[in-house]
Amino acid sequence: MTSEFSPVQQEVLDNIGALRETWPTFDPELRGQLRGELESGISEHVAMLGPDRHIWANKHAVGSVLGCEKRFLADREFPGWSVPLARGSIVHKAIELSINWPTTPVPGDLVDEAIASLEFSEANIATFLQQLTDTDRAQLRSDALDRVTQFDECWPRLKNQWRPATEAKVRLDLFDGKVTMQGKIDLTLSRAEGNRAGKVLIDFKTGKLQAAHMADLRYYALIETCRVGVPPRRIASYYLEQGRFQPEDVNEDMLFAAAQRAVDGINRMIELELEPENPAIKPNPGCRWCKVLDTCDPGQISLREFDDPLDDLP
Ligand code: SF4
Repeated sequence: MTSEFSPVQQEVLDNIGALRETWPTFDPELRGQLRGELESGISEHVAMLGPDRHIWANKHAVGSVLGCEKRFLADREFPGWSVPLARGSIVHKAIELSINWPTTPVPGDLVDEAIASLEFSEANIATFLQQLTDTDRAQLRSDALDRVTQFDECWPRLKNQWRPATEAKVRLDLFDGKVTMQGKIDLTLSRAEGNRAGKVLIDFKTGKLQAAHMADLRYYALIETCRVGVPPRRIASYYLEQGRFQPEDVNEDMLFAAAQRAVDGINRMIELELEPENPAIKPNPGCRWCKVLDTCDPGQISLREFDDPLDDLP
């Protein structure tokens, strides 16, 4: 018997789809309870911030401040685009274009169109792309093409009725905007109906499975629940090189644990904002992408032990 979908594409469909009748329902009070948990957890620290200070917490900031504090401070001091960051944006743009491409999309065409549309857009990545050297541009295109080709092989074509959204922004302001929790989800599908959870949040990854990847997605699920009032139904990392899903169904315990992790991270960010001296240095597989690796002996030593590098789509 022939099938429209390859086995790996069928696996994607099995992971993102579910009959509406099976979608879980959640208590409408959950949104307020989670927000209360966050605000009560950080209120004492927020009171220590001066009137002009503001905390921006995204998944990278929360992850790094709970990991290597020196990297957290370096990322804060030297923000901006890098080739790996730009690669993620190009891949997501190419996936977005593939949804409405008039013919069967070819990965190379999608990547070229994605680069062109971002390079001449109003987005702040435009200047970075315009100033790339020929070598970096070629490397960026090659890396992005690799990932879009993997996506093209492993995923069925996304249909409009699945409500796909790439780089979907989510945001939660606490204490009148004194603290902002925000995120950009690689791909979302479907949506809640009433208090039934239907949305699926997906982050694309390369490299090997890491516990931190699911922590990032739980962080998104927390913000999404506070934003919409209904949690997503499922979160999943998708490993492009392996053609493999790592899914997790969302439940209340997960969301409260994510809130506690966010509280711990935001409180530590505030402490480092007030006293940035002596940050903790904790080598990890992500040292490879750290902006201060060249001057960090512990990071360089540890990298020799991590011979299977993590290479996330940022
Ligand atoms: S190289 Fe590693 S240990 Fe050093 S600051 Fe960066 S993340 Fe931390």
